[in-house]
Amino acid sequence: MADVIVVGCGPAGISAALYTARAGLGTLIVGKPGGALAKTEKIENYYGFAEPVSGRTLIENGLAQAKRVGAGFVEDEAVGLSWDEVFSVSTASAAVYRAPYVVLATGAQCRTPPIKGVSEFEGRGVSYCAVCDAFFYRKKNVAVLGAGSYALHEAETLLPVVASVTILTDGAEPAAEFPPEMKIEKRKIRELFGGKALEGVRFEDGTALKADGVFIAIGVAGSVDLARKIGAETNGSSITVGADRQTNVPGLYAAGDCTGGLLQISKSVCDGAVAGTSIVKAFHRRKP
Ligand SMILES: Cc1cc2nc3c(=O)[nH]c(=O)nc-3n(C[C@H](O)[C@H](O)[C@H](O)COP(=O)(O)OP(=O)(O)OC[C@H]3O[C@@H](n4cnc5c(N)ncnc54)[C@H](O)[C@@H]3O)c2cc1C
Repeated sequence: MADVIVVGCGPAGISAALYTARAGLGTLIVGKPGGALAKTEKIENYYGFAEPVSGRTLIENGLAQAKRVGAGFVEDEAVGLSWDEVFSVSTASAAVYRAPYVVLATGAQCRTPPIKGVSEFEGRGVSYCAVCDAFFYRKKNVAVLGAGSYALHEAETLLPVVASVTILTDGAEPAAEFPPEMKIEKRKIRELFGGKALEGVRFEDGTALKADGVFIAIGVAGSVDLARKIGAETNGSSITVGADRQTNVPGLYAAGDCTGGLLQISKSVCDGAVAGTSIVKAFHRRKP
């Protein structure tokens, strides 16, 4: 078991890992390539580079730096977070990593898909968290919007509770192995419809699927999705943290773009440093 798991390998996550690993805490980074920095061709406003530097160079250097000071790294996608004495981070490859401290640092997240009706039915049939809301849909027909490992994880959480699960890929090819009990619907979606509550999904061809609930699980799980699973406070698309970057769940920290504010590398690196040093302090306070 690690002392600290860092989810995300951008500037915020790597920065947190540098501080915890250098302080001697067993640190494991669970990260998937990509994120905001990977999209950045030319950075001119980050300290210490006389010439523009690419996001990819910063990512590669950051990861090499974290490994050099002793942090472990697994290239994997976190799909679940739970707590039972310590935190468990489950991944797309079905591995489970456990630690008493977790830093969520998966970057900014835009979860609401541009499909008519999604925002309108939020809380009235549209959900973003299977483990939080499955109970409300017991023995009902639900759909999961998404095509990858995160959609599969959400659908597997729903399956034992609900009457049926349909995977809505909205035109994409499925990118995970969905079991035969889940019906896969690849047609493009036109809208979500209903009255006081959601009643179903209408496809581009005019036909409809009745559904009492639609769970949004597009792309990969972001920090906000993971935080919600264990009841951490969120505010729209960001996680609420204190000055030490701890959430309202003891031991769970968040850093970088996922906490909102200035969406820049310098702020993410600072957040990571604050989260890392706060964990080191908490770790030593906790030790007998
Ligand atoms: C086009 C563009 C240009 C920019 N230009 C600048 C600039 O010039 N200067 C500047 O300061 N800032 C710039 N930014 C902003 C900057 O890139 C971000 O503020 C910064 O990268 C945020 O760092 P982060 O660590 O919070 O998130 P990210 O850099 O997004 O890193 C998050 C990491 O977590 C990984 N991840 C996501 N989900 C999971 C999961 N479920 N499991 C495991 N890993 C996961 C991602 O793949 C990624 O590796 C730019 C952003 C964009 C999009």
